[in-house]
Amino acid sequence: MDLGLQGKTALVCGASRGLGYACASALVAEGVDAVIVAREPRALDQAAHTLNEQGAGRVIAVAADIAAEEGRVRALAAARELRDAAADAGFDIVVTNAGGPPAGNFRDWSTEDWMRALNVNMLSAIELMRATIDGMIARGFGRIVNITSTAVKAPSSYLGLSNGARCGLTGFVAGVAREVAPHGVTINNLLPGTFDTARLAANFQAVADRDGVPVESIRDKRREASATRRFGTPEEFGAMCAFMCSVHAGYLNAQNILLDGGTYPGTF
Ligand code: NAP
Repeated sequence: MDLGLQGKTALVCGASRGLGYACASALVAEGVDAVIVAREPRALDQAAHTLNEQGAGRVIAVAADIAAEEGRVRALAAARELRDAAADAGFDIVVTNAGGPPAGNFRDWSTEDWMRALNVNMLSAIELMRATIDGMIARGFGRIVNITSTAVKAPSSYLGLSNGARCGLTGFVAGVAREVAPHGVTINNLLPGTFDTARLAANFQAVADRDGVPVESIRDKRREASATRRFGTPEEFGAMCAFMCSVHAGYLNAQNILLDGGTYPGTF
């Protein structure tokens, strides 16, 4: 299927590895020119190199903290490097993403811990929408995909910072997505279940440390608890993200798409 994205531009955050990288890879394969962002420059440059080798779109790396105003300004300005200066240089697609907050016991979290989680996993995504959405409206096309978490539907207490911040973002999106819909702009959230990434390994380690058991036993238990008896692959996640950004997904708006192989035990 041609996703109709050839020549579009994308900002993909948290994209040096894991789910963000997979989203960038799937979009670039469709001919999207992308700015990819992560904090650590070496891994990011390597990711950009691999994506540029892969083709078909062009990739520029911007090493920046997307949760900081200064980092967002530099990432957003890089749209101009994808297009000649005369052209309208806004992004057609924005994938918001950053590392999840630490796991733990809510009794140990201070207001500062909460403010950090809210900034990284809620407010930075809202700021990116604020900076890009009016350009999308003016051009009559826009796709925003926020990578959130299965925690929005099925919270676990040790990921309380994630539950709170991501539900805040989800509530915000539910409102603004309806406002922009008449202009060809969609905003959806993509909720990862358990995908085999560095983040997943870190979460398993945190649970293993808390419970004093080997990390392999946590891993095996989670795999067995999933409906598919396996973890998702980042490629499966990227493919869904690319479809949500495609011209075929113009009627998909304000949704929370849970990608967990059917593990969430509800009818809806
Ligand atoms: P990951 O493997 O840890 O990758 C995170 C990526 O984001 C890296 O490229 C990282 O690079 C970048 N990043 C982190 N903080 C950033 C910041 N402030 N500014 C810019 N880039 C930043 O994580 P993942 O598994 O792909 O997960 C992505 C998101 O989905 C996370 O929020 C995670 O909590 C959520 N999630 C994942 C799963 C899962 O099963 N994997 C399940 C539920 C939710 P740098 O460190 O160099 O910045």
